[in-house]
Order: sequence, then structure tokens, then C-alpha cells
Amino acid sequence: GPAPESAKEAQDWLAENAPFGLYINGKMTAPGDTFASKNPANGEELAQITQATADEVDAAVTAARKAQGKWAGLPGHKRAQYLYALARLMQKHSRLFSVLETLDNGKPIRESRDVDIPLVARHFYYHAGMAQLQDAELPDREALGVCGQIIPWNFPLLMLAWKVAPAIAMGNTVVLKPAEYTSLTALLFAQICEEAGLPKGVVNIVTGDGRVGEAITSHEQIDKIAFTGSTEVGRLIRRATAGTGKSLTLELGGKSPYIVFDDADIDSAVEGLVDAIWFNQGQVCCAGSRLLVQEGIADRFYTKLKARMAKLRVGDPMDKCIDVGAIVDPVQLQTVTTLVEAGKHQGEVYHAPCELPANGCYYPPTLITGMSPAATLMQEEIFGPVLVATTFRTPSEAVEVANNTRYGLAATVWTENVNLALDIAPKLVAGVVWVNGTNMFDAAAGFGGVRESGFGREGGWEGLMAYTKPKGDAKAL
Ligand code: NAD
Repeated sequence: GPAPESAKEAQDWLAENAPFGLYINGKMTAPGDTFASKNPANGEELAQITQATADEVDAAVTAARKAQGKWAGLPGHKRAQYLYALARLMQKHSRLFSVLETLDNGKPIRESRDVDIPLVARHFYYHAGMAQLQDAELPDREALGVCGQIIPWNFPLLMLAWKVAPAIAMGNTVVLKPAEYTSLTALLFAQICEEAGLPKGVVNIVTGDGRVGEAITSHEQIDKIAFTGSTEVGRLIRRATAGTGKSLTLELGGKSPYIVFDDADIDSAVEGLVDAIWFNQGQVCCAGSRLLVQEGIADRFYTKLKARMAKLRVGDPMDKCIDVGAIVDPVQLQTVTTLVEAGKHQGEVYHAPCELPANGCYYPPTLITGMSPAATLMQEEIFGPVLVATTFRTPSEAVEVANNTRYGLAATVWTENVNLALDIAPKLVAGVVWVNGTNMFDAAAGFGGVRESGFGREGGWEGLMAYTKPKGDAKAL
């Protein structure tokens, strides 16, 4: 059932702190022009959030610039102490973080509590270790400088961690913009920076919509832009930064294949899909959103899958028994609805039978079978709880259909035949391939895409190096 006592803690925090200003140079500014952040589960307003002005973005960049030399000049083991402190404080406040994330985003409280927030803390612990390592192992690398970081709404705090932890570990300072739908956990993070005694200016948080993102991307005093979001905005940012000497990493959309061979452990492959496409309501860049099943088992597989879908519990994300919560915002819900309406004739539609709560942004778990690989719903990222499916005959046909996409973020393969898995994995055009499992993440493992899914890696060694440059390297124009 619901967890009213923890909801009260979050309501008290909001009452005490809203309306929110920006976190610049170690201080919260007075709120400016504000907009409402709403709870997608019931449409209620949670807080007023400031739309930062270009001058405020400039003040944040100036603060970050001023703090950077001294921050980078600290020995790695000293910087590490701050990251350890941040990690510990995030664990200490994990309940408040989890509830705020769920209220703001609509994701099930079980996911915020058991997946997002623990991963966030792990990310800071891992990069604290990396900061320590820097003294001995990376004497010839140095920080890039000031990093502008722009993140989406699907994993608000986790995307913050993926960006902030490696950046500050390596001696950079940051100006981060959360997505306009989901600013709350970033604002709580600002308080955690205070509590950890992080030197002022090392982390700055500016809220607002794409205009704030544009002010960041076009700012001359920023050395690197790290962006996660849509392919469309990624393209704009690539254009805006071209020829400026800024480093750039882009984590964009996906339409990842989930391939099931006829010798697979079918029950596990069905259960894996609960994670692959219904976790976070399918609003996951690497969601296994395209199901490819080998012909001989297709009927049996679909029958089992529909039975499993019928058991998914859809509803109030604050209820700790819920599997599928609310879509982040009415606009996003409309996008999903429109895409499915326009393409539903392309296959056979199955909506999981469930009673959707009134007033919230809910969409039923959906499966559309019998798709042609070229159909729009097989090609377009839906970014919702909608799985589209087709069948294949041979392994080479599976590879061909899997790679028939403009994206290349992730892929999943299910087979009991290790030789087949080893043969298929390298042929799939994807930044990561999971075998007999899905959505596996670790701070030590690089993550990122190819083709229109972007470029560069986050996490792991590659992700860490992307926040450094060789010592003495001139800014290349
Ligand atoms: P988006 O790309 O519009 O927004 C992502 C971030 O970029 C937000 O913080 C936004 O304010 C900012 N932004 C918007 N316009 C900008 C601009 N011109 N310059 C700089 N920053 C700008 O994505 P969204 O609206 O949050 O979601 C739309 C689609 O993006 C989704 O349907 C999905 O396809 C994709 N998406 C992908 C991921 C991912 O992890 N790869 C995550 C979220 C969304």
C-alpha cells in the first residue's frame, strides 16, 4: 500500500523550500519567473521552479570558472573526500530523494528506492575512488574546465550522477540543467552539496526549459557540453557547438532490439521484458522496445507474454506494490497515444487489462505483434510502455532486422547456445549488448550509443577520460 509517512516528509520539504531559485556559487538565489512542476500521477502542483535567465546562466558559468582552478588544484584524494561525503549524504537522505523523484516523475516508488537512488550513491562512491586514483595513475591528464550538463526527465537524479560525479572527480566544475518536468531532486542535491561542504561554484544548478539549455550550449566560457535527451535536440546542440572548440558527448534516443531465439529460456525472456520495456513506463533510452522472436516459438511466447502483462500492477506510483506508474507529463502521454493511434493498423494490438486511475497520466502496457520491420512503429522511438514485435527465421535474418534502425544504443539476445550468442553479439550495431539478461548497469561499465543514438561514453574508463584532456593540450579549434 501507499507510504503516507514518507510522502509527508517530502511535502514538508517542499513547503519549507519552494518556490525554488537557482543554485549558483554555493547559494540559492531568490526565485525569478517561475513555472509549476506537477505530479503526473494526479496533476497536482508540487512546486514553483525558476526559469533561469541568460544572465543567471552567465553568473553560474562565471562562478564555475572562478572555482575551477582551485578545485582542480586539490590533490585527488582531497576531492575524493567530497565525493565520498556526497555519496554518504545521498544514502542518508535516500528516502526523501526517492519520494521526491516518484512524486515529480511518476515512476514507481519501488524503482526510485531500490534502483535509481542506490545506483546514484554507487556512482559517487565509484568516482570518489577514481579521483583518488588520479594522483598516482593519471599524472598526464587534467580537467577540461567548466562543463555544461543538460539532462532529461526519465532518470533525473541518476542522469545528474552520471554527469556530475565523473566531472568533479577529475577536477572540472559544472553548470547542470535538469529537465523542466523534473527539477526537484537536483534542487535537493544542491542542499546536499552545502551539507557536504563542497567549495562554492564547483556545482551550479540552473533550472528551466530548452532556452536555458541553449544559453548553456552557446556560452563561450564552457569547455564541454554533456547532453542526454532526444536525437532532435542532440542535433541542434551538435550544430551549436561545431567549431567552438567545446568537447561534446551526446546520449540520445534508441529503438533497441530484444531478440529471442527458439532455444531460449522462455520464462526468463518473458520476465526480462518486464524490465526491458515496462520499467519506468518504457521511458528508457535503451528500452528493449523492439521484440524479435524466432518463428517457431512466437505463438507460445506471445501467449506467455500477454499472461505476464495481465499481471502487471499499474497505478499510483507511491504504492509500493506498483510495477508501472505514470507517464511523466500530459504532453508525453499525448505523444505516446498519438503515435500508437497512427500506427496501430500496422499490427495486432494488445492492451494489458488494467484499471487506470483517473486524473493521472497513465497508459496501459501494450504489445503490438505482426509488425513489418519497416513499419513506423518499428522505427520510431515511442518512449512509453509500448512493445512492438515481429518474427524472424534465421540468425542472419535476426541480425538484419535488428540492425534495420537509425539508432544503435543497446541490444538484448536470449539463447541457451553460447556459440550463437558469441556469433551474434558483435554483429549487432549497438553500444551495449546484453545476453540472457537486460538493463544491466554499473558505474565501471561504459554506456553510450552509435548512429543516431549519439557518441561518446559515460561511465567506466572511457567515460572518465571524456572529462579529461592530455596535460598542456591547447584548446583545438
Ligand atoms: P529533450 O531533448 O527535449 O530534452 C532533454 C533536455 O534538453 C531537457 O533538459 C531540455 O530542457 C533540454 N533542451 C531542450 N531543448 C534544448 C535546446 N534547444 N538546447 C539545449 N537544451 C535543450 O527531450 P525530452 O523533451 O525530455 O524528451 C523528448 C524525447 O527525447 C523523448 O520522447 C525521447 O525520444 C527522448 N529522450 C531520450 C532520453 C535518453 O536517455 N536517451 C531521455 C529522455 C528523452
